[in-house]
Amino acid sequence: KELREVILQDRINLVLDIVKDSLRNRHIKLINKIEETPFKVVTIIGELDQVLINIINNAKDALKEQKIENPWIEIELKKEESIFVITIEDNAKGIKEEIMPKIFEPYFTTKHKSQGTGLGLHMSYKIVTESLKGKIYAQNTENGAKFFIELPYSVV
Ligand code: ADP
Ligand code: MG
Repeated sequence: KELREVILQDRINLVLDIVKDSLRNRHIKLINKIEETPFKVVTIIGELDQVLINIINNAKDALKEQKIENPWIEIELKKEESIFVITIEDNAKGIKEEIMPKIFEPYFTTKHKSQGTGLGLHMSYKIVTESLKGKIYAQNTENGAKFFIELPYSVV
């Protein structure tokens, strides 16, 4: 596993570069609220990328399913005491309260079998909590769903 000291913003921007075109194709506005002061983090890089892509893909799916007219995804990065917090919010319809406790369970999906495996959030949960020593959770906002990823400054 690639344990490295990296600038968190650089990693996030790499991911945004990967997803940018597919968001533009679907007319999804990407709102970037990433703090500019570089944050150094000691982490396992490839795994964080995968988590961010999973969450953004879910937001894309939700925006498409709900046929949202002016779809957007907002990504925020800020520094708090002892943690960095990355949030990804969309303006789809949010997550029904009755399924909220299940979304991180393996194979839980509300999508058709051909569209979803129900493993994305479970894998993300394992990566964030086990490899990255952080926390991941979701909340509904007045807009839609918002995912929080809390990362310690260093995993070691
Ligand atoms: P999959 O994408 O294969 O369904 P995930 O583990 O990635 O599996 O997500 C599990 C479920 O959580 C989804 O099927 C969906 O019901 C719900 N979900 C995840 N992200 C969102 C979101 N941004 N908006 C609404 N529902 C969501
Ligand atoms: Mg998914």
